[in-house]
Amino acid sequence: MPQQSPLDLPEDDPFGPHNLPYGVFTTTDAPRHRRIGVRYGDHVLDTAAAAAALGSAHTEVLGAPLLNPLLAAGRPVWEAVRAEVRGWLTDPAHRAAIEPLLFPLADVTLHLPFEVADYVDFYASEHHATNVGQMFRPNEAALPPNWKHLPIGYHGRAGTVVVSGTPVVRPLGQRLPAGGGSPEFGPTRRLDIEAEVGFVVGTPTALGERVPLDSFRDHVFGVTLLNDWSARDVQSWEYRPLGPFLGKSFATSVSAWITPLEAFDAARTSPPARDLPLLDYLDDSAAEPGGLDIRIEVAVNGHTVSRPPFSAMYWTAAQQLAHMTVNGASLRTGDLFASGTVSGPEREQRGCLLELTWAGRDPLELPDGERTFLADGDEVTLTAWAPGPDGRRVGLGEVSGRIAAATG
Ligand code: MN
Repeated sequence: MPQQSPLDLPEDDPFGPHNLPYGVFTTTDAPRHRRIGVRYGDHVLDTAAAAAALGSAHTEVLGAPLLNPLLAAGRPVWEAVRAEVRGWLTDPAHRAAIEPLLFPLADVTLHLPFEVADYVDFYASEHHATNVGQMFRPNEAALPPNWKHLPIGYHGRAGTVVVSGTPVVRPLGQRLPAGGGSPEFGPTRRLDIEAEVGFVVGTPTALGERVPLDSFRDHVFGVTLLNDWSARDVQSWEYRPLGPFLGKSFATSVSAWITPLEAFDAARTSPPARDLPLLDYLDDSAAEPGGLDIRIEVAVNGHTVSRPPFSAMYWTAAQQLAHMTVNGASLRTGDLFASGTVSGPEREQRGCLLELTWAGRDPLELPDGERTFLADGDEVTLTAWAPGPDGRRVGLGEVSGRIAAATG
């Protein structure tokens, strides 16, 4: 049988010409040469080399060692580059030039593809917020009174956003003993995940400028899967009154691949009906559907524990961006904002172990034993896909991380 070209993908490949996510990679023979790549099937196209070889007008942004110059270039350039890359991969006229520039994924190292500017995390699943409220504040209403009026968020730590595959060291911190009393110090005993979807900002804004709902696509470049690792014992002791701090800031993992927003055009969907009227700047009842039908799968040590549906999110990314800028706070290229834990209405759709085990009272049965929270050595992997054009699937890059024992 003749060897198949990596350019000949099966029709149903989730990383076909309808997807084309961007990443940054190195090869073993040039480990310091970071290059922008586009994933195609199980290969990565050296996009910088392709641009140079084919005389692209975008050689400069594609020749950068990270995605930020492309992110800053704005939507017309994003769309032009995407069309150009698709042409390189699908037009038979480019075959001879492109084929040698494709590397098997197994042979490259993937890096954090962009420099993260600011990082914000939201709390947009009604199911997640209700479950957490019931567990953390059993004597109060599950949802705080502001929850259906604004997308609640907090500012996270941009410098600890890491690429998929980076080990996650069990953090140390303050936690209360089971019976209450004075806090103890030590490794977290309640290390958890949060399955989320992250949005990467390209086009910045000036201080004082707002981003209305219908300008979302002018500013947001693409989408990544995100795992907001959380130390629940640290978090539950520290979070009042200013919100999450050290229980979250030790690591946030993102996929090595940023999928352009255009790849999700067939996955757009209406968010759930809103129970309360919204202020004008958040009111999307007359807007294009702002939800995305992204189906996430959470696996611990290869065993699927949950399938959170992103379509169930109460607040959309456009509403989150509108809210984040309504006070005039400016955006920077490389800003990352995450959806908040994605949980659906069903038990097997919950996006974190806190909910899946109901704060540890109802352990999960895994092939290698029971689990409440994560054990050292556990590996958590998020995968996802969305409906694409013509019945195809749009695959998102996975986000994986293994827990390493606490140090020090
Ligand atoms: Mn989160």
